Amino acid sequence: MGFRLNDPSGHSETTAIRKACKKLKTSDLRGAVLYASLQPCLMCFSTAFWAGISKIVYGCRKTKEMITKHYYEGSTDIHTVNKNNTRKIELVYVPDFEKESLDVVQVWEDQRQANPMKVFVGKGKAEEKTDAVKEIKHYYQKSPRK
Ligand SMILES: [Zn+2]
Repeated sequence: MGFRLNDPSGHSETTAIRKACKKLKTSDLRGAVLYASLQPCLMCFSTAFWAGISKIVYGCRKTKEMITKHYYEGSTDIHTVNKNNTRKIELVYVPDFEKESLDVVQVWEDQRQANPMKVFVGKGKAEEKTDAVKEIKHYYQKSPRK
């Protein structure tokens, strides 16, 4: 969702935390549980940490193939960060709906790969707006991250 809104921090988990804080008029969500289809990224995990969230429940883990793609984190994962943090978040993997969760992720990945560096304007209409976007796209085509 973040790339559609031109907001790199617009991930669903971070957006949900923002909305919960705003609705409850607090930045302290101690005792709250965050549910996610996919194991959260480092940014969303960190946002949950700073909000005081106690537990994160997710339906599918990131595979090695997923974390090597440039739009995932790379080699660092939330378990390593959580282990080194002063306050631990309980991380609960519930595989019961992994197939359904992976299907959702696959749809997102297909859209992402079809339009890797497009700028979305309005309701899903994509266009390359600036030379900078074209340069970034060119960079990724020439040297994709591993
Ligand atoms: Zn995220």
